[in-house]
Amino acid sequence: MKLVDEFRDVALAQSLVDDIRQRATRRWVLMEVCGGQTHGLLRNGIDAALADVVELIHGPGCPVCVTPAEDIDLACQLAHRQEVILTSFGDMLRVPGNAGSLLDAKSHGADVRMVYSPLDAVALAQREPYRKIIFFAVGFETTAPTTALAVLQADRLVLTNFSMIVSHVRVLPAMELLMRASDNRVQGFLAAGHVCTVTGIAAYDDFVRDFQVPVAVTGFEPLDLLLGIRECVIQLEAGRTSVANCYGRTVQSLGNADAQRLIERAYYITDGPWRGLGNIVRGVLRLRPELKRFDATECFGVLEPLPCCANDCRASDVLTGRIKPPECRHFGTTCLPVTPLGAPMVSSEGACAAYHRYASQTDRGSRPVSS
Ligand code: SF4
Repeated sequence: MKLVDEFRDVALAQSLVDDIRQRATRRWVLMEVCGGQTHGLLRNGIDAALADVVELIHGPGCPVCVTPAEDIDLACQLAHRQEVILTSFGDMLRVPGNAGSLLDAKSHGADVRMVYSPLDAVALAQREPYRKIIFFAVGFETTAPTTALAVLQADRLVLTNFSMIVSHVRVLPAMELLMRASDNRVQGFLAAGHVCTVTGIAAYDDFVRDFQVPVAVTGFEPLDLLLGIRECVIQLEAGRTSVANCYGRTVQSLGNADAQRLIERAYYITDGPWRGLGNIVRGVLRLRPELKRFDATECFGVLEPLPCCANDCRASDVLTGRIKPPECRHFGTTCLPVTPLGAPMVSSEGACAAYHRYASQTDRGSRPVSS
């Protein structure tokens, strides 16, 4: 497949591994921000192949993992209303809140439906004028333009039976939070290429200047990831820091202006909660006041919060790179993809799911890079 297969070339990958190993004079600690990168690194054995010169720790960029349990609870409670059809992306349906997941709600009779696009939810609202259609909007700057498009479309169509639970988050403020932590160990970042496709890389200039860490924007194929790691190692060895675009076939300096405009038309930036990371300054997007009539909390009122369901899932430590999933005592025993205790075991971008999925390959350190 054009622009994919050539980034899975085993011989080139091995030469990049050799190059990184030759350049590194010590073991550097890098964080890949996005769960898609985590899966790419583990699936291809890159973490193992470089283990003695680069420690890769896994960041918070799994969209459903950081969606607050309270928002899932709200979605579940609204889904149980007779008139409501609750829609969202597939991964989001399985993530547990404080009283189960949306799939649990569905199994108890709620009308919960998976959609592939927020625009499908708008079309459903047109087809079902006597039902109230709610779209549960989650994710980073990557998905925000499409949910913005949906709410703007609903506005244009003057729909009165469409609303959204908006739980969008922004990546850069979370990276700032991690760098400010007293126990931070991150020396360089692999930034998520799909987010940067929207935001552009210039958005990282202030971050690099303020925290003096290299940032390499990468894609998700083995060569993309290895090029990003090599760039970080080159900068760290030379004692310099900058933003490097290692995903040039998609990412441009100023990003996608149309997507940015959509986000700005629909949302404003404010402080808000991330699951596992707490309240993050300028860390979330919410509907602009002129679109408030599409905010499900406005349409249905704020519901009574459910009591916090305490378990000792260590998602917070996993999402901040403080532990690796196998260090959680539930990993692979009481927490499995079919019976997840926490969001990182549910999501196709979750770090716990990645470790579990590639467990047979996790004789880490002995396996060559392969695709
Ligand atoms: S293995 Fe399960 S319980 Fe442990 S941190 Fe991951 S999701 Fe939570």
